[in-house]
Amino acid sequence: MNISTTTEQISFEDLLTAIQPVDGGREIKDPATGALVGRAPEHTTADLHAAIAAARTAQPGWGALTHTERSTYLNLAADAVEANAETLAVLLSREQGKPLNGPNARFEVGACAAWLRATAAFQLEPEILVDDESGRAELHYRPLGVVGAIGPWNWPMMISVWQLAPSLRMGNTVVMKPSEYTPLSVLALVHVLNTALPVDVLHVVSGGREVGEALASHPDIDKLMFTGSTATGKAIIRSSADTVKRVTLELGGNDAGIVLPDADPQTIAQDLFWGAFINTGQTCAALKRLYVHEDIYEDVVAALAEVARSMPMGVGLDENNVLGPLQNKAQFDIVANLVQAAKDSGARVVLGGNPEEGQPGYFYPTTLIADIDNDNPLVAQEQFGPALPIVKYSTIDEAVEKANALEAGLGASVWSSNKEKALEVAARIQAGTVWINKHGAVDPRLPFGGAKQSGYGLEFGVEGLKHLGQPQVISY
Ligand code: NAD
Repeated sequence: MNISTTTEQISFEDLLTAIQPVDGGREIKDPATGALVGRAPEHTTADLHAAIAAARTAQPGWGALTHTERSTYLNLAADAVEANAETLAVLLSREQGKPLNGPNARFEVGACAAWLRATAAFQLEPEILVDDESGRAELHYRPLGVVGAIGPWNWPMMISVWQLAPSLRMGNTVVMKPSEYTPLSVLALVHVLNTALPVDVLHVVSGGREVGEALASHPDIDKLMFTGSTATGKAIIRSSADTVKRVTLELGGNDAGIVLPDADPQTIAQDLFWGAFINTGQTCAALKRLYVHEDIYEDVVAALAEVARSMPMGVGLDENNVLGPLQNKAQFDIVANLVQAAKDSGARVVLGGNPEEGQPGYFYPTTLIADIDNDNPLVAQEQFGPALPIVKYSTIDEAVEKANALEAGLGASVWSSNKEKALEVAARIQAGTVWINKHGAVDPRLPFGGAKQSGYGLEFGVEGLKHLGQPQVISY
């Protein structure tokens, strides 16, 4: 194999020119200011079919490379992301709204490179299942073929890499369908990755839900990676049924955090804040319902409010800001309506809850709501924005029961000064991941996936690679 590339640095203007249609296209506006960011191509299902056909043709050659060769390409792709990190972060910030600083746009682009490198480094050896006088049997993971990947608008670049990196590593070619709210970020990322990857191995088709539906039902797509809402996940299962596609579903979450009575409010306040408000609350595995023991309830509420008050929110390109707008009007309305309903029910507004009218941008202020019932819609539904309900509890059994009461089961957290106690509670929570004294800390080495209606299948780590291969037993 002779893989050679020079890492190219692309200017912001050249990148936009490369991904935009020559004329027409859909206008994409900055959610913080309403200013035009760029125009996204409106690909049709005919464009989708052409992309799938090209990916299908390229797959045998890509699948025939060794793991070492494909890993080399993934590392070159990571080099390309790093060489263009600032340009990608600025575009992401402008289109998605997230600030450059804090755990936001620069962090997300950095995570793309880190995930590519981690995915390149995993070892996946055939497993020896039997090796005795009766014979030998080995378990191998072969390429599946062409993977279709459909993504959301909250972490558009990072989630694309979560989908494409293990797919490529396992010898599949990929066709991405980004969210119609954030297509430019994914088009730009794929353009940069393709400066390092062989031709036709990775495609992106920018279109609405009809393009997503066509991808999910296409006979030449062998596996679907879907990240998005639970409602769309159910539609995807239906669309994929006739072709019996393999499907990984990373769906909505409504993560609970349980603060035990022995936790120190001052010590945990900052981590609680970022657990809930990372990406201004628009994160699948963010803390979305906080349960605090009555003995320390007021202290936790006060400590959290103090941290929350100190976090500046505003336009993403302003280096001071660490919180941004909601990405779109529909999401703004969901958050505003849920908080209004909580206020109407008599819950206590500790902070925020009063969006300014007549301002440009979909800014919703950082909001903490206390003295709220567990069945209030702000608790029971995924708010996906900067509004955290804080529920008081008296016994651990009550807290665990409330945490487990919903159909969502993506992540959860337990906060305590006593590790043994925290581990005991963690084991009783129905969620794919339970963090202790932190929340949402995903790691490329650790398998990630949902329980209950938060989805099925696993991403990340060697387990994630296995979900993108066809298991094959060789017995002799
Ligand atoms: P969404 O379900 O509205 O859209 C996701 C994608 O699906 C978009 O690209 C959209 O065009 C496409 N789509 C819509 N209808 C389709 C259909 N019938 N067939 C095929 N594709 C279709 O989700 P969203 O609003 O973009 O994202 C927010 C949701 O995603 C939240 O619920 C959040 O919790 C979830 N999420 C989950 C994870 C996770 O890892 N579990 C990560 C991020 C976001």
